[in-house]
Amino acid sequence: MSETENSPVPADADARRAAKPLVCYQVDQLPPNNLELYRQARADLSPVAELVVPPRDGACFEVAAGSFFRIHSVDGPQVGDLNLWNAADLSERFFSGKTRQLHATHVSIGDRLWSSLPGLRPLATITHDTLDWYGWDDDGGGIHDVIGTRCDPYTNFMLQGVEYHHCCHSNLTRALAAARGLPLGEAERHVHDVLNVFMCTGFTRDSHQYFMKASPVRPGDYIEFFAEIDLLGALSTCPGGDCGSSHSDDSTPCYPLRVEILGPAEGSLAGWSPPPPNGYSRSHGL
Ligand SMILES: [Zn+2]
Repeated sequence: MSETENSPVPADADARRAAKPLVCYQVDQLPPNNLELYRQARADLSPVAELVVPPRDGACFEVAAGSFFRIHSVDGPQVGDLNLWNAADLSERFFSGKTRQLHATHVSIGDRLWSSLPGLRPLATITHDTLDWYGWDDDGGGIHDVIGTRCDPYTNFMLQGVEYHHCCHSNLTRALAAARGLPLGEAERHVHDVLNVFMCTGFTRDSHQYFMKASPVRPGDYIEFFAEIDLLGALSTCPGGDCGSSHSDDSTPCYPLRVEILGPAEGSLAGWSPPPPNGYSRSHGL
């Protein structure tokens, strides 16, 4: 908080602060996450495609509904910034804020990545995470956050006064422009708040500021998702590398990330179908 003249403390300040916190949503009423079905299906997966995202760059990939995709650490500790869209309609995209409210500041196995309004449905479900052992560290940090967002050249220019062209925002923009044949400016409008894959972040205990620390990810680690609908994904290899020192410059060692797309065995998802868009009438009271 900025320094201002302190307001008088009311006599009942302690009592007001003692109000009990309530989790905002009745998350036990969310539609079931089908994790057991996905666990059975992931026991027999076949490779469909793969791509390697070079350091300080971005790339797009498509995943059919009912398939899985994994993001692998290769060569060295590296953070990735992930965007997801409905492959048939880029206006439906990952909604990190609502995902945070429905799950937590950091996501792992069983959590879903929800789409923007009015769709508000799961785009993907996390089905495996080799870093799920990390939990919460002594600084309050966790892995795979939906509290920060992508590094971007605008903030960097505002704070540093220099142009840097390989921030995650730019990497995602170039990747989407190339994948969909869009002008840069149009592609940029579709780039959105990310899932910070493998990134270790939290809020400082004293000032509640967003912090990052060196990611515990190592080559061989991966996070796996089930695609609930046909997806277009974009992944940036953050110029911050393991995000243990800096970002938005070329000073940190950076490594590639590998994306693997896997299909389940025939019949293993019997009875499953993609979730429909949210059922609200959209009348908004009129
Ligand atoms: Zn970044």
